[in-house]
Amino acid sequence: GRLRENRETMVNQKSLAYGVEKSSIREIAGYAMQRRAEIGAQNVFDFSIGNPSVPAPESVRTSIEAAMQLPPQQVHSYTPAIGIPQAREAIAASLRRRFGDHAAQADDLILTCGAAASVSMALNSIVSPGEEVIVIAPYFPEYRVWIDHAQATCVEVLADEKTFQIDVDAVCAALTSKTRAVIINSPNNPVGAVYTRENLDAFANMLRKRSTELGTDIYVISDEPYREIVFGNIEVPWVPDVYERTIVCYSYSKSLSLPGERIGWVLVPASNPEQKEIYAACAGAARLLGFVCAPALFQRVIIDCVDEPADVEAYAKNREVLTEGLTKLGYEYIQPDGAFYLWVHAPGGDAQAFCDVAKQFELLPVPSDSFGCPGWLRVSYCVAYQTCVDSLAAWEKTLAAMN
Ligand code: PLP
Repeated sequence: GRLRENRETMVNQKSLAYGVEKSSIREIAGYAMQRRAEIGAQNVFDFSIGNPSVPAPESVRTSIEAAMQLPPQQVHSYTPAIGIPQAREAIAASLRRRFGDHAAQADDLILTCGAAASVSMALNSIVSPGEEVIVIAPYFPEYRVWIDHAQATCVEVLADEKTFQIDVDAVCAALTSKTRAVIINSPNNPVGAVYTRENLDAFANMLRKRSTELGTDIYVISDEPYREIVFGNIEVPWVPDVYERTIVCYSYSKSLSLPGERIGWVLVPASNPEQKEIYAACAGAARLLGFVCAPALFQRVIIDCVDEPADVEAYAKNREVLTEGLTKLGYEYIQPDGAFYLWVHAPGGDAQAFCDVAKQFELLPVPSDSFGCPGWLRVSYCVAYQTCVDSLAAWEKTLAAMN
């Protein structure tokens, strides 16, 4: 279109800034796509993006095919804003089976367009302009954007530098009378850490004590899209049982490999003293954000597939071959207990410098700076097993070239 001269354009400046801002993850993914076209997919080691490599389960296809036999107006209509009652009931029943009879009721749930919507709704339900929201760094970069949209301040608190568990003392030091919420994410993107019960207990006790002293209510927004993706007998505690003022955000993007379909939920459990009000504010936030309702077809799919187990085998194999290979080469990393990310210490300490060298060998991890924690590499290993195996030569060559 035409450019106005000597005048700012009329567009919203904040939206414009986010629209033109470059996401380093997407930029690397775009470069990887270009290189695949140029030199063949088998020669590119793209560890950039968290798109599950495991196919969605067969039961998803069966459910969609069954829905296609129904009259279209029954399948494609608007649903109630909070979701189809049968979907909310199926999810609540599943949560009760897994976490106890008190865990959820259908009326505590709202179906959403994925975890992005769930976390945005949770934030807008409790946070007012000018308040503060704490994130545990390194963290999923979109948190900063959603907090900004709620006109709140994003306060970064580094995780424990050795274990990448929550640094309870550091969070305590960052709390102010303006702190309204802490976002936690376990199993964690980008580190793969799973917060232990001891860590969460200490965190909850500290929050209770400090919020009484400060005279405020502090909420925990528990973002859990990787809850089922854990290796071995790792416990992922049910956070509302540890801390009462918790809002749980979930998505089927990772567990059922449906990231493009936009389906998840937000739960405001009865453990919250102001449960009814927060739930109503969550529904209001969905309206404010223009979400209308979660995709109707996939709400139906969830009714059928709510207890479908996540297929973690492929990720477990990738984790094993990468961690064994990188250990032999002398890399240091955080042993991941969950999700499908490996957090590797950047040899030399400069993540961007490492990535610039790695690029020459078609090795494409993401430098950690955009996650709010310099000096590391995020390796998304939700890729083909052979890519992990074949990448080891590139990891070796990069290390040699750095020295
Ligand atoms: N939260 C975390 C920690 C994530 O890693 C992601 C996606 O990668 C999301 C939220 C967004 O998930 P969804 O696709 O369900 O919106």
